[in-house]
Amino acid sequence: MSDVIAEQRTRTNWAGNVTYRASGLARPTSVDEVQRLVATTPRLTALGSRHSFNEIADTDALQVSLADLPPVLDIDTERRVVRVAAGMVHSQVAAGLEARGWALANLASLPHISTAGAVATGTHGSGIRNPSLAQAVVGLEAVRADGSVARVDASSPDGALDAHRVALGALGVVTAVELAIVPTFRVATTVHLDLPWDAVESSFDRIMSDAYSVSMFTSFDDRGARQVWVKHRVDEPEPSVDLVALGARPATGPVHPGENDPAGVTEQGGVPGPWSERLPHFRSSFTPSTGAEIQSEYLLPAASAVAALRELRPLEELFAPLLIAAEVRTVAADTAWLAPSSGRQSVGVHFTFRRDAAAVAAAIERIEDALAPFDARPHWGKVSAASAERLHAVYPRLSDFAALARDLDPTGRFRNPFLARILT
Ligand SMILES: Cc1cc2nc3c(=O)[nH]c(=O)nc-3n(C[C@H](O)[C@H](O)[C@H](O)COP(=O)(O)OP(=O)(O)OC[C@H]3O[C@@H](n4cnc5c(N)ncnc54)[C@H](O)[C@@H]3O)c2cc1C
Repeated sequence: MSDVIAEQRTRTNWAGNVTYRASGLARPTSVDEVQRLVATTPRLTALGSRHSFNEIADTDALQVSLADLPPVLDIDTERRVVRVAAGMVHSQVAAGLEARGWALANLASLPHISTAGAVATGTHGSGIRNPSLAQAVVGLEAVRADGSVARVDASSPDGALDAHRVALGALGVVTAVELAIVPTFRVATTVHLDLPWDAVESSFDRIMSDAYSVSMFTSFDDRGARQVWVKHRVDEPEPSVDLVALGARPATGPVHPGENDPAGVTEQGGVPGPWSERLPHFRSSFTPSTGAEIQSEYLLPAASAVAALRELRPLEELFAPLLIAAEVRTVAADTAWLAPSSGRQSVGVHFTFRRDAAAVAAAIERIEDALAPFDARPHWGKVSAASAERLHAVYPRLSDFAALARDLDPTGRFRNPFLARILT
């Protein structure tokens, strides 16, 4: 059995805005050890790479990290599936796939995030044809509350795969994930600056669907979309929207979404490169700082995007001292019960704030009021003020999920305070 490390030092999430209350952190080194740990521990919560901004991965009991399990990257070229150890981070998976001529369809902005953690919260990138990373899951293995290993895939009864894709750590400790893969592809990123609001409003759908993955960054001020990142798959037709004619200007050098030092951003300037080094906004080779930011994000029906941006613009003055950058991106509909983009073509409105918890709390109350008419679903791994009641209203399968969690984990072994609040 691996040691349970009752760490003396204070442990926090990556951003430093959540100090974990967990009594300790277990770091098993094999699936057998995970099984024994689960079977002999009354309550525990899986911890990924600590990139969530709320208490979803915290507990007043034990945390367990799978980062020390051996890496696995088995490619089945016939089925077009890769099986990976759940604790591996995107950059490891992406590099391994790219080296063998394969790719994931999409990635989040940061390549340092763990596979299981990203899947568990419905993490996504951008692209009108790209659903969340959880949608790429074709099978997974999880250690259940009794210590047994269960396999879940498309042949499992009662839509179990869709229940397990975005599972918030509630249905077991996921040890391996099988992901759909595609042949490798190349992407070129071009950036335009200061697209006026009237052009954002008149041409939103055209711009967001003009390339494989498009993101707009804004402060909601008079500059409109101060950056438009167009990530074009070079094997697809060239983007056709003329952003200059719409009032933007081409960036003359690399830019950072928060207008900071661009050293850590993936290459721009239209230089083609592998998907693994273009789809994330940030380079895997660059160690991101320890946070000092707080993120929130809301996913709403894509058709509401322009109306929602109009509701948010009057909050510009509130945002001015606090907001590092807001990102607007698209996510294709997911089948996962709890994906923020479940069942609907979505637009995500994401906020990176300075790490001022009280000011952020006040801001997100205002944002959630502004977005309430659009049935906005908060991202599971980011800061939100939504009550359990509100979450049940916008996530219609949350009650079904809570029932499944009670069924699979009757003693609440995987229950933490975050889950206890929402799985009612
Ligand atoms: C700089 C930065 C950029 C980001 N960019 C994006 C982005 O582009 N798009 C986006 O959608 N989100 C983004 N996020 C949010 C991030 O993707 C999610 O918060 C994600 O869940 C973090 O994964 P993690 O491995 O850190 O998991 P943690 O935060 O450690 O845990 C999250 C959840 O996963 C569960 N979990 C972790 N491992 C397992 C396991 N083995 N078995 C079962 N459950 C498990 C935990 O119990 C918890 O419920 C970003 C976050 C940061 C800090």
